[in-house]
Amino acid sequence: MAKRDSQVVDVRARAEATRARVPQDVMGILSGQEVTLRQMIRQTVGRHHVTIQYPEQRKPYSRRFRGVHVLTQRQDGSLKCTACYLCETVCPAECITIEAKEVSAPGIEKGPARYEIDLSRCIFCGLCVEACPEEALIMSREYDLTARSRGPESLRYGIKELTERPEIAAYGSGFRPHMQYPLVESYLPLTARPAAAAQPPAKRSKRR
Ligand code: SF4
Ligand code: SF4
Repeated sequence: MAKRDSQVVDVRARAEATRARVPQDVMGILSGQEVTLRQMIRQTVGRHHVTIQYPEQRKPYSRRFRGVHVLTQRQDGSLKCTACYLCETVCPAECITIEAKEVSAPGIEKGPARYEIDLSRCIFCGLCVEACPEEALIMSREYDLTARSRGPESLRYGIKELTERPEIAAYGSGFRPHMQYPLVESYLPLTARPAAAAQPPAKRSKRR
């Protein structure tokens, strides 16, 4: 078989010829602008908003959302926690601190004199809530956790912070292990009882 002559392709000449026909740079910019314009019209006229006006608007989260913890209470307002230390033991971040005290209520031997969660170390895994045999600790859908100082104590929530959680009324209760059963309202912190089972009042943004 005769050896074929090698063919030389002048790539540069071809590219320059193409560029002369179609100004590619300009077309690229125009194409991008067209996409931007199309989305602007779509979002303005059709109200297909991708973003929301946070914090005035909030997205509703799942009932299984693992937000800031809540210590639940009995109907008489006492904590359901029996200071069994299961949550503290299971916590992988070692951010729960409990000190027990004796209580005189019938059928109950112990309660927490001190119950603290260092939320700056918490990874919101929910293992503590799953380990609790009393449903004394549940989670909320509160996600915008902030601190007003940088000190190590700033996000260390004690009994007061974990029980007085008016945010639950706005966000709704979050993850708890026995979600197949309704959450008994009276077990929630007193401040959150009226709207504990309510959906968060966030204005739903329409999604594409
Ligand atoms: S959610 Fe996880 S990391 Fe946070 S306190 Fe509970 S067990 Fe610990
Ligand atoms: S597992 Fe439940 S009852 Fe036991 S110490 Fe923790 S919160 Fe209290």
